Amino acid sequence: MFDIVFLGTGSPLPSPVRCGAGQVLIAAGVNVLVDCGWGVARRLNAAHIPPPSIDVAVFTHMHSDHITDVPDFLISRWTGGATRPLTVYGPEGTRETMDGFLAALRRDIGYRFAHHGDKLSREGIRVDVIEVPATPEPYAAGNAGGLLMESFEVDHKPVVPALGWRFAAGGARAVLSGDTTACDTLRRAAEGADLLVCEAMNVEMLAQRAAFLRAAGNTHVAGMLDDVPDYHAPTLDVARLAHDAGVRQLMLSHVIPPIPEDGPQVAEFIAGMAALYRGPLSVARDLQRVRVTGGT
Ligand SMILES: [Zn+2]
Ligand SMILES: [Zn+2]
Repeated sequence: MFDIVFLGTGSPLPSPVRCGAGQVLIAAGVNVLVDCGWGVARRLNAAHIPPPSIDVAVFTHMHSDHITDVPDFLISRWTGGATRPLTVYGPEGTRETMDGFLAALRRDIGYRFAHHGDKLSREGIRVDVIEVPATPEPYAAGNAGGLLMESFEVDHKPVVPALGWRFAAGGARAVLSGDTTACDTLRRAAEGADLLVCEAMNVEMLAQRAAFLRAAGNTHVAGMLDDVPDYHAPTLDVARLAHDAGVRQLMLSHVIPPIPEDGPQVAEFIAGMAALYRGPLSVARDLQRVRVTGGT
């Protein structure tokens, strides 16, 4: 078994209660960060997970809402006492992105060495990147302290490659969709999973938001929202996929449009899903921690 702590359950659309994408898997002796969007480094502190306790990070794709807290995470991990490089798994493009973040931090890193000297590890600010192929069937990307990590390609075009991830330890399996439509590769990877954490978009609520913005004269953002549906997963499609894959529990994260943590908008967001998927269904909230246990 292992735990998942949700650090950010939002999307690029601003929300006061939902940060950009991020979660930590906590297995026996290892913490694995999955994505590091806006606010995630700060959420680690709120979740009482010290950044230096994370030696492995995994990325789904290089959209900004999944990566922009990497600099704060790297610096807080390093200055917090990390003495080992961070191992990063991600799709093609991950190395370029990490190199870019480190280049942007080059002066800061120099200043801190100049100020703190040998108190800071040379290794602790290094990043070792392993780019994994985007494959239609799960690919064994790595094993972190007994936590098996498998990647698979998802459909988030024109974002190519984009990955979902499957994690397994001690007979428990969880699948994190990344950003995607409700595609076949996700359904196959989620087959029989104990937990599916899936992105979700409520098409009607998003359309209402676009209409509201248009009525208020903000045609630019309304037009941007019009483009969102073609590469995300409508809530009812997610419910059908979870049913077809026979997943034991479904949690929604990366919710579009942003909704509060609870109340009528949450009920509106998931309306109709329970008729299609009969298992436990919920919308994740930032800092929520769930345990994933095997089904038998
Ligand atoms: Zn996203
Ligand atoms: Zn995305």
